[in-house]
Amino acid sequence: MIKNEAKTTCSYCGVGCGIIIKKDIDNKVLVEADPNHPVSQGMLCSKGMNLHYVVNDTSDRILYPEMRWSRSHPRERVSWDDALDRASGVFKSLIKKYGPDSVAFYVSGQSLTEEYYIANKLTKGFLGTNNIDTNSRLCMSSAVVGYKKAFGEDIVPVSYEDIELADCFLITGANPAWCHPIIFRRIEKHKEKNPHVQIIVIDPRKTDSASFADLHLQLIPGTDVILYNAIGRRLFERGLIDDHFIKNHTEGFKEYKDLIFSTSVKDAARLCGVPEKDIRKAADIIGLSKGFISMWAMGLNQSAIGTDKNVSLINLSLITGQVGKPGSGPFSLTGQPNAMGGREVGGMANLLAVHKDLANEEHRREVAQFWGVDKISPKPGLTATEMFDALESGTLKAVWIMCTNPLVSLPNINKIEKAMANAKFVVVQEISHKSDTVAFADLVLPAAGWLEKEGTMTNSERRISYLPKEMEPPGEARPDVEILCDFAQRMGFRGFNFNSAEEVYNEYCSMTKGTNMDISFLNYDRLKNEGTFQWPVPEYRHQGTPRLFEDKKFYTPSKKAIFNVPQSIVNTSVMPDEAFPLILTNGRIRDQWHTMTKTGKVSRLKTHYPIPVLEINPVDAFINKIKDGDITEIKSKNGVVRVRAKVTDSIRKGVVFLPMHWGKQLENDLNRVNNLTNTVVDPFSKEPDFKFTTVSVSKY
Ligand code: SF4
Repeated sequence: MIKNEAKTTCSYCGVGCGIIIKKDIDNKVLVEADPNHPVSQGMLCSKGMNLHYVVNDTSDRILYPEMRWSRSHPRERVSWDDALDRASGVFKSLIKKYGPDSVAFYVSGQSLTEEYYIANKLTKGFLGTNNIDTNSRLCMSSAVVGYKKAFGEDIVPVSYEDIELADCFLITGANPAWCHPIIFRRIEKHKEKNPHVQIIVIDPRKTDSASFADLHLQLIPGTDVILYNAIGRRLFERGLIDDHFIKNHTEGFKEYKDLIFSTSVKDAARLCGVPEKDIRKAADIIGLSKGFISMWAMGLNQSAIGTDKNVSLINLSLITGQVGKPGSGPFSLTGQPNAMGGREVGGMANLLAVHKDLANEEHRREVAQFWGVDKISPKPGLTATEMFDALESGTLKAVWIMCTNPLVSLPNINKIEKAMANAKFVVVQEISHKSDTVAFADLVLPAAGWLEKEGTMTNSERRISYLPKEMEPPGEARPDVEILCDFAQRMGFRGFNFNSAEEVYNEYCSMTKGTNMDISFLNYDRLKNEGTFQWPVPEYRHQGTPRLFEDKKFYTPSKKAIFNVPQSIVNTSVMPDEAFPLILTNGRIRDQWHTMTKTGKVSRLKTHYPIPVLEINPVDAFINKIKDGDITEIKSKNGVVRVRAKVTDSIRKGVVFLPMHWGKQLENDLNRVNNLTNTVVDPFSKEPDFKFTTVSVSKY
């Protein structure tokens, strides 16, 4: 029996699929695909389809605030007043004694835009520190820098509707068949109807995406830039470049051409470990296409040379003039539902709201004036990994962690555990006791989850969705915006007296006026009544902007797109040696999401890939005397993992793969890939080098 229904957006990945929520007679939530949603068109993947189990099962929910006065005492239930008085008391005292940079917020690409906005306003505007960073640092920050370098601003020029207008897809460092399934389903359908459409996949693993491709280049990890440059050289040699576009709408081509001609295609093929003929074929497919879209995810971003990989890939769109026209352009695939919205409100330590830059004095002055504060500190805040380094060294005293689980997701977890144990004060604002991070909290604040609060999110194609509140949060859980505003008022700050998420949204929207991401004419009423919109929405009755740069005017000072020459063409952050001869990479599996605090609750999602296993090539398995199903011990200089082996030729020789999701579940801390991972970060984006760690593997 259905009592009512409402439209909302999936809370998992950045695809942003449309969901219809219904409730049965017992008030239990039911989930259905929205047949009219512009993105998902009546489809949901296994994760989205099973969201109702996550919502209806409240057994893991944190129901009331918990606090401990010292680390030798257990946490006890306290009132909200006691909890937030303690939080504000500790923050005031630390700031007075050690200065504002002694405290930090670590937030999340799952936070709603309103929550993200308030957390940034609170930290940068009022606490007086830029120590706020987000787990988006771990997934999209290399793409942010890449877009800014190429186009002058952190923008995704493309739209999902371009999928059906393209005839060539280059999917690199991504496995959308598993990780962005509804987008991949749209590509599959498009190819089924149009067999001439060509798909190229670049990946050291033969993933499901690679199996569907017309051409798979199974490169050596870390050699992506060399491969893209070789494709660029071949495009030039074959005359498959857009001279008019390059001459009239770009800068830096000469330097780029000098670089791509410094390595022959033959040498590049040898360095990347792919056949020369396949590089030539890839270039021909791209160069002869009418609409070329490149798609990428963490295989590019999570690298010590992540920015270089991003700009080198975007260079292929520029050399072919495949930007700002239907069915073409570079398209980063975000892993979190609101990674874009977070970037829009300045959710990183080096950014300010509405895509303004912390390093720019005029931008700092404008934002300070808007918030009614004297100034924004010019000192860059601590990025995600820097924050935990500072906790470990003791220069950072307190951290407030909201909606994220760094005790599974950050590199070198053993180091993160030490950092958390060394913190003077840890606040964890969370929905689930299953988060590994809760164990380190001095103060736990129960947060409302999906459907229990209202707000907005932006998906990978700049599409803003309104998410309604459809049920009350359990126990004493409260929406994150409300918790942050309550804390801010107890700190004595003006400007946080909001009565609703809508009032927060309206303040943020007014800040966007006149910017490239102007949504000042997109209010809650329009979102509720007319559906989702892609920014900018700069005028009354404006219907949104699916595609950017159709006028070929980019957001750089010269209005031209920029060819960037990468500083490094190969990742040498660590090199295989006798002690650690194999390269470990990692990634998602089809039915799990992030650290499994939600998808791990659904038994049917565990059947596809029930335990973490090490994927290893038969040659490497033979050399290391490992048989399929053996328990293996994987060691890096940072730690150890023990899981069973899956011997498979779907991964190239010299490379091994572990899934990323498992934390310290069932008291087992030997299945966490981040026991092993490399702590090096990209020098520009500060994104960790997750995908490139050297390890040894032996039978245990
Ligand atoms: Fe949700 Fe992403 Fe699956 Fe769509 S593709 S249903 S947004 S997890």
